[in-house]
Amino acid sequence: MKYPIHERFFSWQGEGVHMGRAAFFVRLFGCPVHCPWCDSAGTWHKDHIPRNIEKRTAKEIVAEISKEKPDFVVITGGEPAIHDLTELSDAIHSENLPVHLETSGAFPIRGNFNWITLSPKWNKLPLEENYKLANELKIIVEDQKSISKWGSIINSHIKEIQNIWLHPEWSVAKDFKVLTSITEFIKSHGSPFRAGYQMHKMYQADELDSRSR
Ligand code: SF4
Repeated sequence: MKYPIHERFFSWQGEGVHMGRAAFFVRLFGCPVHCPWCDSAGTWHKDHIPRNIEKRTAKEIVAEISKEKPDFVVITGGEPAIHDLTELSDAIHSENLPVHLETSGAFPIRGNFNWITLSPKWNKLPLEENYKLANELKIIVEDQKSISKWGSIINSHIKEIQNIWLHPEWSVAKDFKVLTSITEFIKSHGSPFRAGYQMHKMYQADELDSRSR
C-alpha cells in the first residue's frame, strides 16, 4: 500500500498533553470534511491542492523518520482516518516509536495508536465509537458561542475523557472576546477543560524544516 503524503517534517508537538515534545509529523492527503477555516486546505481544497502528491510505502516513510530523533510520530491530515493506517502505524512501531493520531473522528479508525487526539468538526461529527478511543479532545472555538454549542454534543463524553482542550480557531487566536470566552469557561468549569493554543505557530517551528509546506 502507498500513502499519499501532503508533507512530512520534524518539529515539536504544539498542542495538547504532549505539547513541546519532539515529534515527526506525517500529514496525509485528503479530507472530505471541508471545514471553512481549515489550515490544511492544501490536503483537499481544489484551489490549494499541490501539483504533485507523493505516494510512499510505510517502509519508505519509516526510513525517513528513522534519520531523526523524535519522541513520537504524529499521523495527521487532512483526515488521516480515511486511509487504513494499520501498515503505517505497525511499521513505525517496529522502530520502537510511539504513534499518535490526530483525527476529526468522523471515520472508523484503522491502525494501532498510543495516543489519539479527536477534534470534532461541525461538518461531519465524530462516530460515537471514536469518543471511547480518544485520549484527548480538542474543541475549536470559532466565536463566543462555540463553547456552549459544542457543550450539547460532548456533554455525554465529559466523564470519559481526561483532557478537553478549548483552542481558539487560528484566525481569531488574538480576538480578545474569543479568548475571554475560553478563560471564563475554564474558570467556571475546571477539569477536564483546559485552555489551549497552537504554540508551534507562535514559534514558527514547523517552517524550519524545508519539507514542511
Ligand atoms: S477536518 Fe481538519 S483537515 Fe479536514 S477540513 Fe476540517 S480542519 Fe481541515
